[in-house]
Amino acid sequence: MKRIAVIGGGISGLSAAFSLEQNRRAGAPIQYVLYESSPRLGGVLLTERVDGFVIEAGPDSFLTEKQYAADLCRRVGLADQLITSNDAERKTYILVKGKLVAIPEGLMFMVPTKILPTVFSPLFSLGTKLRVARECFQARRKADLDETVAAFFERHYGREMVERVADPLLSGIYGGEASQLSVRAVLPRFVELESTHGSLGRAMLASRRKAESTPARPLFTSLKSGMQQMVDAIVNDLLPATARLNTRVDAIHRREVDWLVSAGAKSDTFDAVVVAIPAQAAARLLQANSPELASELASIHYGSSVTVALGYDQEVRSYLPPGFGFLVPRSEGKSLLATTFVHQKFPYRAPEGQALIRCFLGGTSNEDILQISEKEIVQIVRNELREILGIHAAPLLSRVYRWKSSMAQYEVGHLERLERIKNLRNQLPGLALAGNGYDGIGVPDCVRSGMSAVLHVFASLGLATTEPAAKVSQTA
Ligand SMILES: Cc1cc2nc3c(=O)[nH]c(=O)nc-3n(C[C@H](O)[C@H](O)[C@H](O)COP(=O)(O)OP(=O)(O)OC[C@H]3O[C@@H](n4cnc5c(N)ncnc54)[C@H](O)[C@@H]3O)c2cc1C
Repeated sequence: MKRIAVIGGGISGLSAAFSLEQNRRAGAPIQYVLYESSPRLGGVLLTERVDGFVIEAGPDSFLTEKQYAADLCRRVGLADQLITSNDAERKTYILVKGKLVAIPEGLMFMVPTKILPTVFSPLFSLGTKLRVARECFQARRKADLDETVAAFFERHYGREMVERVADPLLSGIYGGEASQLSVRAVLPRFVELESTHGSLGRAMLASRRKAESTPARPLFTSLKSGMQQMVDAIVNDLLPATARLNTRVDAIHRREVDWLVSAGAKSDTFDAVVVAIPAQAAARLLQANSPELASELASIHYGSSVTVALGYDQEVRSYLPPGFGFLVPRSEGKSLLATTFVHQKFPYRAPEGQALIRCFLGGTSNEDILQISEKEIVQIVRNELREILGIHAAPLLSRVYRWKSSMAQYEVGHLERLERIKNLRNQLPGLALAGNGYDGIGVPDCVRSGMSAVLHVFASLGLATTEPAAKVSQTA
């Protein structure tokens, strides 16, 4: 019987545990233990239900295009609970000089693919519009070196596109800055398009035309009762008593043939370990085993974020603009990074006739927000919503969630670092790494990383897996 420890009970660790359980049921000779330092499983996946509102403290959905999370939901019996975003209502605004300006139709991530909406959009100055036209003639380019997302998009569309679109989009997803994040790690598809087509506009237009023959799928998928459903269903599927809550692992040691895992005064031996915690925490656990690996892991930086949910009555609901919400460029000088009109983005989120607004603050440029009291954070948010949307009414409810060092920042050179991490990890038999620090920070990427970690562990223990081969991530 092989014993495997999973350290960290967020969605990455839970996905690894799920995969281990499937293998065990299929006859693999294994036992597993899931260590979680907090009193609950799920990590940043947490849903609260308050007075009929379904409030997401962390992620509210996952990208439909990346199937790993939806597939896992189906496997734990949630097929009929999957819901998709109301894409008929999909409209997003950017705050420009205090006013909300709709992102023009045809803007695919940061790339304009429709001429007229771009030409008439007040989002861009004449200079940027001319750059958009000129970009169509950009020559192919195969860059040898990584660069920042800001440098890449500035080369194509100029500074304004970076400030008004790229930066706010990335701060909404990573809590990070376009001037720090690696284009190869964060937007590899655009790097590929530049090398094959030169112009991103022409390339995206061509792929849009190709895609027009297949019906568009809604962009986001979630669950009727919130993301917590996914956590609860996975936990129900695990063997009872495999999860050790309130149990922080404070050391792991590779010995001659096995691993010693220590949590407080208790230690246990395992044949393999899946470390599914943030990379910086993983660095501390691995310091004694491989200082080089620990140093690489420690240099993956993390940003913090704060989400604020506000419930409102019918009156506020009736005068919100249509759409999913808005993004706030740093140059606007606000604390808000992004705001979602949750009841317009997804069904089942607010009681009939009421509104749920969710705001994001923090990110790498505003870590200080974590030090402020909840009351003050709500006041900052209310003041800014009053300035931007004219909301004077007091909310029916408010909730503040702080996520310290939760969002990995894939900085320039990230892919090369992953390669070094993989090589160093290979020197420690039975060790696998999972989590949002490596091959993607979205929920589907984390699911894939947990499952890939199990494949790696099985291979290193010489066990055959019964699990379908999830596309193996680089690191696992
Ligand atoms: C506010 C916010 C909004 C987001 N929105 C979206 C979204 O809409 N869509 C999307 O796809 N992604 C989103 N993400 C990203 C995504 O949710 C995360 O990247 C992902 O959930 C991380 O999962 P994880 O298991 O790797 O890490 P975590 O959720 O951080 O879990 C790690 C777990 O390890 C435990 N732990 C740490 N150290 C130890 C130790 N020594 N011993 C034992 N246990 C330990 C922690 O307590 C925690 O439970 C969002 C993230 C945040 C913070």
